Amino acid sequence: MSKAHNFNPGPSILPEEVLKKASEAILNFNNLNLSILEISHRSKDFIAVMDKAQALVKELLNVPDGYSVLFLQGGASTGFLTVVMNYMKENGHGAYLNTGAWSKKAIKEAKNYGKVTIVASSEDKNFTYIPKGYNIPSDADYFHITTNNTIFGTQLKDLPKRGNVPLIADMSSDFLSRKVNVADYDLIYAGAQKNMGPAGTTVYIVKNELLGKTGRTIPSMLDLKIHIDKESMYNTPPVYAIYVSMLTLQWLKDNGGVAWIEKINQQKADLLYNEIDANPLFKGTTVKEDRSNMNATFVLTNDALKEDFDKMWAAANIVGIKGHRDVGGYRASLYNALPLSSVQVLVDVMKAFVKKHN
Ligand SMILES: *Cc1c(COP(=O)(O)O)cnc(C)c1O
Repeated sequence: MSKAHNFNPGPSILPEEVLKKASEAILNFNNLNLSILEISHRSKDFIAVMDKAQALVKELLNVPDGYSVLFLQGGASTGFLTVVMNYMKENGHGAYLNTGAWSKKAIKEAKNYGKVTIVASSEDKNFTYIPKGYNIPSDADYFHITTNNTIFGTQLKDLPKRGNVPLIADMSSDFLSRKVNVADYDLIYAGAQKNMGPAGTTVYIVKNELLGKTGRTIPSMLDLKIHIDKESMYNTPPVYAIYVSMLTLQWLKDNGGVAWIEKINQQKADLLYNEIDANPLFKGTTVKEDRSNMNATFVLTNDALKEDFDKMWAAANIVGIKGHRDVGGYRASLYNALPLSSVQVLVDVMKAFVKKHN
């Protein structure tokens, strides 16, 4: 059986060798004659996995001193609330850039607990662009951005100028896809299942000195300080999700790290967007300068041809390119583990499609 060309938006493609090692550990982990699923999270074998996963994130992103790396549960959706609890002061306010469905959900959580300032929004044009040239109030407790908008297919290319306001980023769908200067951020968080591993764990890169200053009573499971003090073992961590994430981080390191994957991700995005722009039967849904290198969204210029296009890509063993219901059309997710050759297969189908119909 040949593997499908997997463009799923999340959970999404993982490297073949990672899946192989992950499956072996289910039956016999570290030659213990035990499954990784049936050992204590406080065993030395699992603590080594946790330490390695944290060390790999630090190494791959050159995380500076003064930051902690955590692997927690609850998804990025719990992250929206964790942000408010740990950074929004009583009677303070959080500033948000509204660039899509995930930003909106982050804003909704914040509004339940305090004041929100939306500094700019692209909702007026169904989130087809990234707002620019806005002001961030200097008295905001933090400024929250979504670096890649998974559903709408836009991505922040430049960091906003935010003075002394702490910067918080939901990087769920472009984490480890490109170089990032961690020192620019006070908190980065990302659900693993888009670009780092399976569903079940969320990575946090936390600047330590900012914690403990809100005056709020924080539920223990949302308190980043507790998780740092307990080294992500305050309660039972999602051991298998962390293990598979560790394998994926190791795969990235072994192949050349973030600089290596950033180059390939650019090649994949260029290949697909060039075809979308050149092919008269397709058009992109977002403004060019804000296009995402992770999720390419596009539509047919002639809807009557939908059934035929759908047949053609399915016959080429392509899966996962149906667009999100808020955008329609198609979305090809180009995460780290997707090879350039899969993008070439999709582009070849698009070329054959126009040849047939023109
Ligand atoms: C998928 C996604 C989320 C939600 O992640 P969960 O782990 O399902 O909570 C949040 N933000 C972005 C940018 C996403 O792509």
